[in-house]
Amino acid sequence: MTITHNLGFPRIGARRELKFALERYWRGDSSAADLQAEGAQLRARHWACQAALDFAPLGDFSLYDQVLDMSFTLGNVPARARAHGGDLLDQYFRVARGRAGAADAACGCVHAGEMTKWFDTNYHYIVPEFTAATRFTLDTVRLREQLQEAREAGVRAKPVIIGPLTYLWLGKSSDGADRLALLPALLPVYAELLDWLAGEGAEWVQVDEPALVTDLDARWRQAYEDAYAALRGHGPKLLLATYFGALEDNLPLACGLPVDGLHLDAVHGRGEVDAAIALLAPQQVLSLGVVDGRNVWKTDLHATLAWLEPVHRRLGERLWIAPSCSLLHVPVDLAGEDGAGPDAEVRSWLAFAVQKLDELQLLARALDHGRVQVQEALIANAAAIDRRRASARVHDPRVAAALAALAPQAGRRASPHAQRSAAQAAVLPLPCYPTTTIGSFPQTPDIRQARLQRKRGELDEAQYRAAMQAEIARCVRAQEALGLDVLVHGEAERNDMVEYFGEQLDGFAFSANGWVQSYGSRCVKPPILYGDVRRPRPMTVEWTRYAQSLTGKPMKGMLTGPVTMLNWSFVRDDQPRAETCRQLALAVRDEVLDLERAGVRIIQIDEAALREGLPLRRAGRDAYLAWAVDAFRIAANGVHDVTQIHTHMCYSEFNDIIAAIADMDADVITIETSRSNMELLDAFDGFRYPNAIGPGVYDIHSPNVPSQEQIIELMRRAATRIPAGRLWINPDCGLKTRSWDEVLPALENMVAAARTLRAAA
Ligand code: GLN
Ligand code: ZN
Repeated sequence: MTITHNLGFPRIGARRELKFALERYWRGDSSAADLQAEGAQLRARHWACQAALDFAPLGDFSLYDQVLDMSFTLGNVPARARAHGGDLLDQYFRVARGRAGAADAACGCVHAGEMTKWFDTNYHYIVPEFTAATRFTLDTVRLREQLQEAREAGVRAKPVIIGPLTYLWLGKSSDGADRLALLPALLPVYAELLDWLAGEGAEWVQVDEPALVTDLDARWRQAYEDAYAALRGHGPKLLLATYFGALEDNLPLACGLPVDGLHLDAVHGRGEVDAAIALLAPQQVLSLGVVDGRNVWKTDLHATLAWLEPVHRRLGERLWIAPSCSLLHVPVDLAGEDGAGPDAEVRSWLAFAVQKLDELQLLARALDHGRVQVQEALIANAAAIDRRRASARVHDPRVAAALAALAPQAGRRASPHAQRSAAQAAVLPLPCYPTTTIGSFPQTPDIRQARLQRKRGELDEAQYRAAMQAEIARCVRAQEALGLDVLVHGEAERNDMVEYFGEQLDGFAFSANGWVQSYGSRCVKPPILYGDVRRPRPMTVEWTRYAQSLTGKPMKGMLTGPVTMLNWSFVRDDQPRAETCRQLALAVRDEVLDLERAGVRIIQIDEAALREGLPLRRAGRDAYLAWAVDAFRIAANGVHDVTQIHTHMCYSEFNDIIAAIADMDADVITIETSRSNMELLDAFDGFRYPNAIGPGVYDIHSPNVPSQEQIIELMRRAATRIPAGRLWINPDCGLKTRSWDEVLPALENMVAAARTLRAAA
């Protein structure tokens, strides 16, 4: 019989129960016991959803983050979290958030652990911190409780832990110490953990080693061999789990490790399955991730069976099947999609976590008993797959025609930057060190209220529009009073920078409850990009024109770029992402040209997520950057010389991509730098960035108001790297999460700093 199992289940809850439980606890409205009870309830519910599997994961649930959980299990807890006392839960949230609950919310003297993206997903984990002196000790509290629950619920559970090498790989040493040097200290604790799990009756343990799908140098590869040789013989059977891509050059390494089974991402690495079978020893289990854990589309069951059946004949009992990776990255249950979600046709193409596990079950039954046993389900699946493939909503011939008609030079500006900037200065005189903001102003409770009322039908379209116009007017007046040079309309009318555009484009659908955890209690509801993208009508022109009508100062048009829309959506899997990105680019280009025709002189195209799309492997990076930059250029560069194009990116790790960024050829780029004290402008040391730059001088992630002196100091540092004539002064990112009383003094200081710098220039 083919064993079915799951690598991880989304823990946030179908109705985001975990989010709300956490927030109640942090506010002080519930006790630690309440929070733990809610956690237990969710685990029980999620195990019930996975009852049909041979093994359900255990330990995949987390109150905040699975990597932070692992740090606690290994006793690697920063001293600053312990120094404040409190129980384990307090310490845990102090590392997660810099404060435990309502009690030390005001203090904020413990800084939160650094967060970064989990491989190439939009999930963020808390980075383990190491020094040369880090020592590890086993703490089994969390797993013990969950094992107990599983026993009581009669769940056949497979504990999940992060493997030792991936754990070290994910971490950062604060004193420059070599992470791999910690391995000898770490391994005994892993051995102890595995032995303890065996003692608790675990049959198998899933040891996650996704670092194996990245580029590893010889030392890391050797460390894998040493580590697993040292763990051999400890604990239950080990299933080494790799995911988020093919193993490529690490395939022989992974297949040679002395473990009892190996899990491969057979969605992205199907081409490796044969080689893996040849490399594995005859008693080793091969678990294949055959259902895509990274997207929301139904699996083509016939096509999957067509290649899986021969594998099953070869492997027999040694074959296990699972989703490609943890289902953490997809929404919980399509049954939660009510009238507000995608229409019935789009819904019929989708599978969320619960549906993906059903697919897995069907595949196992078809393998074990023949396709006839599940014929009806297979026919229904094939019909859905065919309907999607043939749908007129997926394929719009006008889109292909428009792309084909695009001139080869469509992504190139007529003149180089220096010439453009002279042309722009002639029609748009700006002082040196021009000041601007990134786009959004505070999204006040009033704005959110109006949006809710519009949704509920309590405001009609005209009333809603009037309310938003009033907000825009307020925002324009505030900017004029502050004396900013280039104004924005403030984005009051936008719920989210991708959703707002997706809602106005053909090819997008939106779920009602398709929440995916981003970090901690924060969730996102990614748009579902199912078909050819087309802009039926202008999206922002009226708002921008209205805002411009209120002021004599230049008003920036504000758009979200094609790459960011792509990277923050669930994207169709029936054509290359690059192709979909070009369609998005064309839609944005249409909007850019309409804005230009409407007299808008400055247009900003945000590419907040461009960097996030970088493939895990170096070898894939150039190709990605080439099509991503190309898409931006198509979107932005159809304008005349006098139109100034801005772009914005919310990060500053540019060292490895600076040449690609320069290739985008935006006239001005605004980036994040203030948090790192401009250190990240180091990228500009080795590369002469040709266009203008606005290094963020106001960290909008913090409630702190920067002083005029601080801003001047940051700009002076920037001017050592970039000629002052090409510097702009602006915050790090949009201001929508801040309040007016934080934003106004900060921007006042920013404008004052610009005046001081100009006077000194
Ligand atoms: N224009 C957007 C804003 O200001 C940019 C947001 C972002 O970069 N994440 O909100
Ligand atoms: Zn930003």
